[in-house]
Amino acid sequence: MIDTGIVTLTLIKMQKANSIHDTFLRPLKDLRISVIDRCNFRCTYCMPDKEDSRHYSFLKSNDWLTFEEVIRLTKVFVGLGVTKIRLTGGEPLLRPNLVELVGKLRAIEGVKDLALTTNGSLLSRYAPDLKDAGLDRITVSLDTMDARLFHQMNGNKGDLKKVLEGIHICEELDFPLIKINVVLQKGVNDHSVMDLVRYFKGRKPVLRFIEYMDVGNCNHWDLRYVVPTRELVDLINGHFPLRPLAAKEFGEVAARYEFADGSGEIGFISSVTQPFCGTCTRGRISAEGRMYACLFAGDGVDLRAPLRAGAADVELSALIQNVWQKRTDRYSELRTKIRSSPEHAHKVEMFQIGG
Ligand code: SAM
Ligand code: SF4
Ligand code: SF4
Repeated sequence: MIDTGIVTLTLIKMQKANSIHDTFLRPLKDLRISVIDRCNFRCTYCMPDKEDSRHYSFLKSNDWLTFEEVIRLTKVFVGLGVTKIRLTGGEPLLRPNLVELVGKLRAIEGVKDLALTTNGSLLSRYAPDLKDAGLDRITVSLDTMDARLFHQMNGNKGDLKKVLEGIHICEELDFPLIKINVVLQKGVNDHSVMDLVRYFKGRKPVLRFIEYMDVGNCNHWDLRYVVPTRELVDLINGHFPLRPLAAKEFGEVAARYEFADGSGEIGFISSVTQPFCGTCTRGRISAEGRMYACLFAGDGVDLRAPLRAGAADVELSALIQNVWQKRTDRYSELRTKIRSSPEHAHKVEMFQIGG
């Protein structure tokens, strides 16, 4: 829960740093920037194909923030204490000239960590240029090693071989950190756990198992499909003993473990069974420039309109501060209550604001 002694102490220390805080004293430290809402996959848990016309009307390219606008907003966010940037989507590698944006973000003083989350389908083409442009970290989503199931889970679009090829290229390029995001659904791909563990154990990419979440409005989420982290840790530990690792930093979303035989690390993101809202330092902007204070928010605040109307940095900064300082979001801690109330009417889609 939110007010543990350790969390409070850490927060008080962080207040001294250059950052703004929400109503629970959580600093704004990370910014996730969605650069496009379109995707070449239709993952069943994010953008199921058959729901397409009911739930989505994709943005037109002139609705997207331009790179200049993204850079301008990023600088304002950095001025408010953000140090980590993650590019996401939709599928971010579908955004034309993304490499150019990576280079421009890299050049911003104060951006300590620049990451990208991708489905990996276009990674083999872009990985070398992304590395050269200064991307620090890459996260690839991969839910199974079973090629047929992989294809099914992404709406019969993606090819497992291409994604694995992209990951191998990133390993060869020696990206400082490569993570593999695995979303598990009971009865769908939970039998893939040990195949994934065996494939990546001892190699550079770090697996992170993510509990299936009730993001958006169209994935027909049900708690019965969630594989609780506790079960997963027990399963993996039964094959390869694990040891818990201490968090490296405040706001870390994954509980990290290491293999006792020294063959690397593995992480678990348990936003359903062990919510971590108390340390959530992440703000998000959608491709059309709306700011969201939570992955499960209903609506965002438009930053693009003031930007295009000529607002000064100080005005944009005030707008962002106003959103963050009023922030009360802690959806995952209140999931059951919110889901049974009328507040649960509408949420932003995951592909609009990324993970
Ligand atoms: N298209 C890119 C990709 O798939 O990596 C980036 C955007 S995607 C929305 C970001 C992350 O959200 C992915 O790792 C994906 O697996 C995860 N995700 C999508 N829907 C999810 C859900 N219902 N529960 C948990 N994670 C989800
Ligand atoms: Fe596309 Fe990523 Fe959503 Fe899958 S999870 S549909 S790859 S945005
Ligand atoms: Fe952060 Fe919202 Fe997720 Fe809680 S539910 S961790 S506040 S994004």
